[in-house]
Amino acid sequence: AAARLHGYQTAIWGELTAMSNRLGATNLGQGFPSWDAEPFLKDGAIKAIAGRDYASSMALQRPLGSTNNPNSGVPTQFPVVPLNQYTRSAGHMPLVNRVADMYTEILGCKIDPMTNVLITNGATQAIFNVTQALLNPGDEAIVIDPAYDSYAPCIELAGAKPVHVPLTRVEPHGPDKKNPVLVDAHSPIAQCPTSAEFVLDAEVLERSVTPGKTKLIFVNNPHNPSGKLFSLAELTQIANIAIKHDLVVVSDEVYEFMIYPPVQKLARMASIPGMFERTVTFGSAGKTFSVTGWKIGWCVGPPSIIHPMFLHHQYTVYSVATPLQDAVSSAIANAPEHDYYARLIRTLREKRDKLCNVLHDVGLTPFVPEGAYFVLADTSRVRFPEDDVVKRYEAKGQKLSRDFAFAYWLMEEIGVAAIPPSIFYSPENKHLASNLVRFCFCKDDSILDAAATKLQKLR
Ligand code: PMP
Ligand code: GLN
Repeated sequence: AAARLHGYQTAIWGELTAMSNRLGATNLGQGFPSWDAEPFLKDGAIKAIAGRDYASSMALQRPLGSTNNPNSGVPTQFPVVPLNQYTRSAGHMPLVNRVADMYTEILGCKIDPMTNVLITNGATQAIFNVTQALLNPGDEAIVIDPAYDSYAPCIELAGAKPVHVPLTRVEPHGPDKKNPVLVDAHSPIAQCPTSAEFVLDAEVLERSVTPGKTKLIFVNNPHNPSGKLFSLAELTQIANIAIKHDLVVVSDEVYEFMIYPPVQKLARMASIPGMFERTVTFGSAGKTFSVTGWKIGWCVGPPSIIHPMFLHHQYTVYSVATPLQDAVSSAIANAPEHDYYARLIRTLREKRDKLCNVLHDVGLTPFVPEGAYFVLADTSRVRFPEDDVVKRYEAKGQKLSRDFAFAYWLMEEIGVAAIPPSIFYSPENKHLASNLVRFCFCKDDSILDAAATKLQKLR
């Protein structure tokens, strides 16, 4: 393998899912919904592949005087552009137009479909693309730990250096007034801490900027793995540093529609005065419409960011699956009539509370998340044979940190798969994950109930 890949190992996602399947564990690990896409979403994709627009565009091109019967066969002499061929490289126009309209409303400024939008193969490609498009070898980019596990490798693949700033735990409401707003005051989890306890120290952030070298900062809001929502005040602190030091902000907002009451509106980095020109916002149809296998993402930003990203995209990807882009365009158009976003929030919030109640009950204190579909839990009160697990894996040549030992034990002995959160931290910050485990709650109730039954063994 090329030198740039030295030191890389297989990421945990596939491995953990395979292990979980092999052991017959209940999988609350990798973040993907266990349910199928809703019919209105699937219909868009089915129609796109089956040739909906093929038929209608043929009807429009019928020569004068020809039969009006739409079932009379398709005359082959007319050029048509069915949706199973390449589409425009920067994005299929029906989707680009929808994304532009959606973000014109969300950000409160006019988004030009032709210059402000790029469609990617999921947000994952956008992460690779933006680092390739904007970073030179020797540059630095700031990552807030814990962070999605592809940021740092992509920064390195561009020859740049990731500089990590940790979120630290601060108890904002005091020990006996933890969670007055996120859940019903009478709920057992009202006393639990929340994801708001993970906070960024703006002074530490500013000290991590190397003048002349730092070019980018990644901000993920709502945040994976904690579920934290950065408030407008927190984003403004980051924005001030970005403006002062001339940084671009990559605002990864793939969980943008998963925010739980009382928060009604996600604070958006790009809508802070002075920030649109230096922010690129990422969204994901996989997350928004529970179709992680479709791999359609969008990037919204100024031409100074979108154009270099496009230059890279045209030679590395060219274009993204046309029928699925078309289906996502229909999904965005049809979502309101299906009350989609409100239902998604209601469903996920119920699942969040269901899982958090179980975790609280068995001594795995949850940090009740304000957004996204993950919950971090504190494992420090659960007794488990850490040394035995570590020794067993040592014999197989694997050195486990405490959170890995806990997650492996939980999967093997209790039968529930979860993610050891140290994968979201840089080496110097991994210790912050020692007593944490991440569960995913976008799973059918039957799966959450099966996990609940197994987790009772921890009591
Ligand atoms: N960013 C974050 C924070 C994520 O959790 C994910 C989930 N995989 C991604 C980006 C990638 O999204 P996609 O599936 O659209 O590639
Ligand atoms: N984002 C998902 C998670 O955090 C998984 C992404 C992946 O499998 N690459 O669980």
